[in-house]
Amino acid sequence: MKYFSELAEILEKVEKINEKSLKIDVLSRFIKSLDKNELKITIWLILGNTEEEWVERKLNVSISTIIRVLRNLGINIKELSLLYKKYGDLGEAVKIIYEKGNIKLNKWFAKKYTIIDIYNELKKIENLEGEGSREKRILYLEGIYKNLSPFEAKLLTRILQGDMRYGVLEGTIEDCLSYIYGINDEKIKIAHAIIGDIGVLAEYLFNNPKNIENINIRLFHPFKPMLAEKANNFQDVFNNFSPAAFEFKFDGIRAQIHKRGNDVKIFTRRLKDVTRSFPDVVELILNNIKNNEIVVEGEIVAWDYNKNLPLPFQEISKRIKREYEISKYIKEIPVKLFLFDIIYLDGKLLINDEYINRRKILEEIRGNIDLTPMIITSKEDEAKKFFEESINMKNEGLVAKKLDSKYIPGKRDKSWLKVKGHLEPLDLVIIGGEWGHGRRKNFISDLYLAALDKDTGEYLMVTKTFKGLSDNEYIQLTKELLKYKIKEEGRIIWFKPKIVVEVIYDEIQKSPKYKSGFALRFARVNRIRWDKSEKDVNTIQEIKEFYEKQRKEEI
Ligand code: AMP
Repeated sequence: MKYFSELAEILEKVEKINEKSLKIDVLSRFIKSLDKNELKITIWLILGNTEEEWVERKLNVSISTIIRVLRNLGINIKELSLLYKKYGDLGEAVKIIYEKGNIKLNKWFAKKYTIIDIYNELKKIENLEGEGSREKRILYLEGIYKNLSPFEAKLLTRILQGDMRYGVLEGTIEDCLSYIYGINDEKIKIAHAIIGDIGVLAEYLFNNPKNIENINIRLFHPFKPMLAEKANNFQDVFNNFSPAAFEFKFDGIRAQIHKRGNDVKIFTRRLKDVTRSFPDVVELILNNIKNNEIVVEGEIVAWDYNKNLPLPFQEISKRIKREYEISKYIKEIPVKLFLFDIIYLDGKLLINDEYINRRKILEEIRGNIDLTPMIITSKEDEAKKFFEESINMKNEGLVAKKLDSKYIPGKRDKSWLKVKGHLEPLDLVIIGGEWGHGRRKNFISDLYLAALDKDTGEYLMVTKTFKGLSDNEYIQLTKELLKYKIKEEGRIIWFKPKIVVEVIYDEIQKSPKYKSGFALRFARVNRIRWDKSEKDVNTIQEIKEFYEKQRKEEI
C-alpha cells in the first residue's frame, strides 16, 4: 500500500525530467510497485481524475474554495497571490508557502495518508451536495491540507483543479504499460481505445499480462472511435485504395450507441453520455433493432422534414446542450439518425471483420433506420458526382472507406479518407486573448489560438484572430473563458487550454514569430466546438504536414 507522499515525490521527480525514456523508466517502476487495489485509482489521480476518462468530472473545487481553506490554515494570502501570479500555477505557489512553514500544520501528529485514503476523501468531497455543501467541503479540505507535506499539498491542489502539469499525459501512461509488459505501443493504444480508460487497462493487464489480444469492449462504457485521415482529392483516395466505398459525410454529431435488451446509451465522439438529450433516437433504436446486444455508430443530424434536408451543425448542437424540456426540443429540432458502422453484436466484437461485411450485418439488423448513403466505385467521375450530391445537400463531403478495412478504435487511419469541399478547417484551442476596443470593449475578441505539440504535450500558438463570431457569441465565449483564466498581463489574459474553435484560413505560412514555427493567414473562427476538448485539437505535426502538402499543390 503506497502513501500519498510517495506519489507526490515521484511526480515531483518526474516533473523535472526532460528526457522521455528516463521519465517512463521512473514512472514505470512506481506503477509496477502498486498493489492491485490501488493501481487504477493511482493512475486516475496522476491524470487529475477520480473516475474513468469518459465520466464527466464531478470534483468541482474552485480556486476561491481552495484559497478559503488555505486562509483558514493561516496562510498569508497576499504572499500566495504573488507567488501564484509569478508561477501561474497555484500548486507550485502552495508548495513554496508550505516549505516556508508558517502555517498551522499538524507537524507532530500528522496523519499519513495512503493514496487510497486521499482518493476516498476526494470521493466524499465530490458527493457533497445541496445546502451547506461548500462549508463542509472547506472543513473536509482543511482537515486534509493541515496534514500534508509541501509536495503533497501541491499535488492535491493540482488534482482539485484538474490541472496536473507534471508532464504526464495519457500517452505517457501508455508508454509505461508498453514498457512494463513488453507490448508494442500500437497494441497498447488500440487496447486503451477499446477499453476506454487507461487506469482500467492497467488493471486489466495486471490481471491478464499475456492476454491483451482478448480485450473486448464493455457494453455501456464508451470506446474511442476510429477517425478518418484527410484526402486532398479523389486521386488521393484511389492512390490509397480502389475501388472505394464512398459515404455521405454528414455534419452532425457522431453517436456511439450501446444497447442491451431495453437499455440504450448514446455517447459522443468525446465519449460524453448524451442519452438524455436524445430520447427520440433511443426509441428509434428500440423500435427497430431486435438483437439483444449491439454497439453501432452513426451520425445524428438535425433534419428539416419538410424539405427532407439536413440542417447545419449549430442546430444539432442546441439539442445536445439540452437535458430538460426535451420533448419541446424534439419537436423544434427534429433529428435523423444515419448509421454507418457496427462494432459489436451479441457478444461478438466485429472490429476485425472487413468494412464491407460490417456494412452487410448493419443492413440486416437496422430495421427501418437509415444507413449513410453509399456507393462503391473505382471511377473518379462517379465519385465526383456523388460528392456533388452530398455538397448540394449541404453536407461536408464524403468519407471514402477501404472495402476490406478493419475498425481500429482510437486511430486516425488511412483506410478512412475524408474528402471535403474546402480547405481543411483546423480545430485549435484558445490559450489567451485580448479585450476588444469600442463596441467590443466588454468582451474578449482577439483570440490566441494554439495547436498541440504532440511531442511535448505543449499548446503552441499559431494565430491570433478577432474575426468570425457574432458579438453574442463573443460575449458567451468570454464568460466561459474567464472560468479558465490563468493570469492577466495588461490587456492580455491567458487561459487554461479548454475551449476549442474551428478555424478557417487562407494559407499556412512558416513564421519565426511563433514558437510553433507556423502561422495561419487570414484566420477566422468558423464556429465554437463545444463538443470537442483540448485533446481533440490539430497538432503542430499535422499543421506541418498540411503546410508541406499545400506547397506540393502549389508546384
Ligand atoms: P472530422 O471531424 O472532420 O475528423 O470527421 C470525422 C467525423 O465525421 C466523424 O467523427 C463523424 O462524426 C463524421 N461523419 C459523418 N459522416 C460519416 C461517415 N459516413 N462515416 C464516418 N464518419 C462520418
